[in-house]
Amino acid sequence: MTRSIGSLLLLGASGDLSGRLLLPAFGELLDQQDSRRDVVLVGAGAEDWDADAWQERVRTSFATAEVSDETLQSVLAKTRYQQADVTSVQDLKSLIDSCPPAPALYFALPPSVTVAACTALQQTSLPAGTTFVLEKPFGTNQESAASLNQLLAELVPEDQVHRVDHFLGRSSVLNLIGVRFANRLFEPVWSNEHIERVDIVFDEQLTLENRARYYDGAGALMDMIQSHLLQVLALTAMEPIAAANAMDLRDAKAQVLRACRPWNNDPVSAGRRARYTRGSIDDREVPDYTAEPGVDPARNTETLAELIVEIDNWRWSGTPFRLRSGKALRERRKETLITFKPLPHLPTGLNGNAIPDQLRLSMGPDRMALEINVNGPQDPLILDRVALDTDLTPGRLPAYGEVLAGVLDGDPLLSVRGDTAEQCWRITDPVLQAWRDNKVPMDEYAAGSDGPSDWS
Ligand code: NDP
Repeated sequence: MTRSIGSLLLLGASGDLSGRLLLPAFGELLDQQDSRRDVVLVGAGAEDWDADAWQERVRTSFATAEVSDETLQSVLAKTRYQQADVTSVQDLKSLIDSCPPAPALYFALPPSVTVAACTALQQTSLPAGTTFVLEKPFGTNQESAASLNQLLAELVPEDQVHRVDHFLGRSSVLNLIGVRFANRLFEPVWSNEHIERVDIVFDEQLTLENRARYYDGAGALMDMIQSHLLQVLALTAMEPIAAANAMDLRDAKAQVLRACRPWNNDPVSAGRRARYTRGSIDDREVPDYTAEPGVDPARNTETLAELIVEIDNWRWSGTPFRLRSGKALRERRKETLITFKPLPHLPTGLNGNAIPDQLRLSMGPDRMALEINVNGPQDPLILDRVALDTDLTPGRLPAYGEVLAGVLDGDPLLSVRGDTAEQCWRITDPVLQAWRDNKVPMDEYAAGSDGPSDWS
């Protein structure tokens, strides 16, 4: 359905997400040559800013991106800021009344404040077409995600709720769909019959980077695996879709996520956790995680998590999907690695190591490499390994630009549907509980290493 969004109301406009990611992405989106979007930007936050302070905020944020002066001036001509307590019914009413319809409400707020704001909105009447944009984490477990979904359902229809997943932009999602379903080659072997294992990895070199307030209460499993990597799993493992649109895609993702569970249905053995200790990354000295400002060691927060997921259906039963994400690691890695089963037979006379074929789908920048065995250059009877690789179409916008485009165009392709958000918690809740109960040891790894030495 196409809706006409007349305004983008940024709740939490003075926060980090707004300044560093949303405002620059908004500028870049409007700057696109073919952009016909006419959207008024309204900022709301706790800060007592006057018009000049807000304009300066917009100007400096746009300056971090490539936004033309023409776009900047046209935004500045209409934008305004209102100091507000976004949990107050009165303040919300006055904000929404002042926004050209239909407004898109972007909750760039701490999660508990978002819930309080949505609760207050129950006492207002919202203009037709009002769209909600909610950030991660969406709830803190299955139960709280379900009750937040229920609250939202009382406010706006589900297709007007965007639960943001900026990890995979529109282009990466479409690239994955293209590789899988625009080729005869892959689909017939895309199953437990031919695939040995799937590794979905997001390793960062970044450390805590002063984000203890959020991260120390979340950890790697909640921050990355629960919210983002399970979405990548769903795209990788879903059944073929009839159409590359939001409805088919979200149905297919929900279906496969419903079949997921911790490996062997055992939340204790399915996951591993670890925390970085002192080390160095590219000549940068990194302190022990527990010595980082704002970290409370008693929380026992992991900075590296691994979860093996089993997909309990005909296509995937028995094939492990290993999801791993961590901070302060030696190298940055953002990819899905599909490892095929070993050959049933190598013709006698061919020598060398017939390593199982691997398909590597890197994300941001998107690339694919099919690693296969061929005859060697010196002796054709000795196998050699080559990678057939190519870049995939890069996105025209940064990830948050694609998120905002989906919001303003009323296309929920990138948005996580309510039932799916609950399913992701259902998969990880028992693992998080086992960790809270200390049934799984907290391993350690030196910052700048590949992780604990006994994790292969
Ligand atoms: P911040 O704490 O930096 O910003 C939140 C903003 O909300 C602050 O400006 C705060 O104002 C304001 N605020 C809090 N309570 C109220 C209130 N009652 N009325 C009005 N304003 C209020 O958080 P982030 O921007 O980092 O994060 C926002 C959301 O985005 C979170 O859900 C986070 O998980 C998510 N996110 C953030 C990312 C990031 O890189 N920052 C990345 C991905 C997701 P004040 O400080 O004055 O209280």
